[in-house]
Amino acid sequence: MKDCLFCKIINKEILAEIVYENNDIAVFKDAHPSAPIHYLVVPKEHIQSIMHLESNHQEIISKLIFTAKKVAEETGLKGYKLIFNVGREGGQVVDHLHLHLLGGWTK
Ligand code: AMP
Ligand code: ZN
Repeated sequence: MKDCLFCKIINKEILAEIVYENNDIAVFKDAHPSAPIHYLVVPKEHIQSIMHLESNHQEIISKLIFTAKKVAEETGLKGYKLIFNVGREGGQVVDHLHLHLLGGWTK
């Protein structure tokens, strides 16, 4: 979507440190990390938030979680947090669905 920060990152119009991507998902480093490892796991399709999910999005949500698990394993994390901020009241600032992967405190 035009004027969406994460769509621009996915389309390589804005630079981010992408650590993994496939046809459906991109994973890149958070620009302001809240943990030693802080990645954003992002569907390439523009979905605004968890509140905007429709029934046809079940598969992409599953893929987000399995991708977070794979990237966490490949990063060597023994434990981690997965967080969705949902809506402004839930702390969501970027209106393109994303899963925060946080870890690396005791590596
Ligand atoms: P949220 O508050 O859940 O919407 O999270 C948005 C996240 O995007 C925050 O953790 C920001 O640090 C991160 N962020 C903002 N701009 C960029 C950027 N250009 N590249 C990577 N991460 C970003
Ligand atoms: Zn977007």
